[in-house]
Amino acid sequence: MQVNDISREKSAELYEKAKTYFPGGVNSPVRAFKSVYGTPLFIEKGDGSHIWDADGNEFIDFCCSWGPLILGHNNAAVREKVTEVMQKGMSFGAPTALENELAELILSNNSFIEKIRFVSSGTEAVMSAIRLARGYTKRDKILKFEGCYHGHSDSLLVKAGSGLVTFGETSSAGVPKSFADETIVVALNDKRAIQEAFEKFEGQIAAVIIEPVPANNGLLLQTKGYLQYLRDVCTDNGTMLIFDEVISGFRVGFEGAAGYYDIQPDIITYGKIIGGGLPVGAYGASAEIMDHISPVGSVYQAGTLSGNPVAMAAGIAQITELLKPGFYNDLKLKTEGFVKAIQDFAEQRNYNFKVFTIGSIFWFAFTNEERIATADDIDPESMIKFKTMHRELINRGIYLGPSGYEVGFISAAHTANDLEITKTAIFDSLDIVF
Ligand code: PLP
Repeated sequence: MQVNDISREKSAELYEKAKTYFPGGVNSPVRAFKSVYGTPLFIEKGDGSHIWDADGNEFIDFCCSWGPLILGHNNAAVREKVTEVMQKGMSFGAPTALENELAELILSNNSFIEKIRFVSSGTEAVMSAIRLARGYTKRDKILKFEGCYHGHSDSLLVKAGSGLVTFGETSSAGVPKSFADETIVVALNDKRAIQEAFEKFEGQIAAVIIEPVPANNGLLLQTKGYLQYLRDVCTDNGTMLIFDEVISGFRVGFEGAAGYYDIQPDIITYGKIIGGGLPVGAYGASAEIMDHISPVGSVYQAGTLSGNPVAMAAGIAQITELLKPGFYNDLKLKTEGFVKAIQDFAEQRNYNFKVFTIGSIFWFAFTNEERIATADDIDPESMIKFKTMHRELINRGIYLGPSGYEVGFISAAHTANDLEITKTAIFDSLDIVF
């Protein structure tokens, strides 16, 4: 069934104005809708699984602020806790009991870390974890994977050429070549590349950093065997294994991917869900490793708004909900049913389309492959199909992140009815795409 384009009149007006204030009219690049159709939608409000834009269009939202909103928008428990704490002041730059409370909730239910440090974003968490690994091992080089995003700090904005092991070229102007020289980039899912890197840079690699659930370049799921291999190589070489769980933390289970795969990394980074929609990131490790951080140890890291009471309040309320029995199982079952129905539809129609999923994360891939494990395996041409699909879904009241490389999220607020409506919209959109 064909439908008309929604009106974007007010959003377009706001966007024109925004372009005079911000580069590209946005405060984070992907929001500019560059790889999908039309002007970005300016969102006015959210409630549960729904959002409304400036033109009054209503959508079922699967972007969920790029992951943090596992309880949906404007969750009552989070809102009430934040409102209560805000009455007493917004920031003190001094310790508060709220920091203890959030740390206690996390640490007493997570067997993979003993101490934690709160920061204000995922980027900050990863940047600090890298410094900790370098300070701890007294080595400079880090190894990252092509297709894994770890925020926008200098040494991580590096990508590789097509070689097995290469020094990265910077992927942003403004990153000094000398920084990029300390970052080794290899393909995911390739043990030989890891072996070569460790042979070539023996005794020099401070840390291997990976998104154990790579979810920033499609959903490039790795095997437990491969992650275990990384663990073993790191142990054998005195290198730290960092799991960047900014997306997977508190998402694929309370203990994130470390718990899902039962693999003990040396340092774990968190973000998104931990802040209930407010700016919080964190990194954690054993007490012995964490005590290398200032003011105990010599690795410096600080933040004016770190552990901000309002953000801690949001985190406390959200994390408390996640600890309720059955929370993750319900979310997983809901997601599995949704994904299977779409998958079955695509198969019946012989469409070149798969839905990859883990926990409550899903990714729409225009492929026949049963598994896509490396960034190179994604056909860039498939993004043209995604663009059509995105437009059709927007017109049918379904909001996905505006890029075919981004994953979608299901929240506790998505109802069976939401998912039924969404499935129909997806079926109709796929019929148009193909
Ligand atoms: N690490 C991962 C795995 C991420 O997905 C992101 C952001 O999406 C980051 C780090 C950076 O987090 P932030 O955008 O909060 O700085």
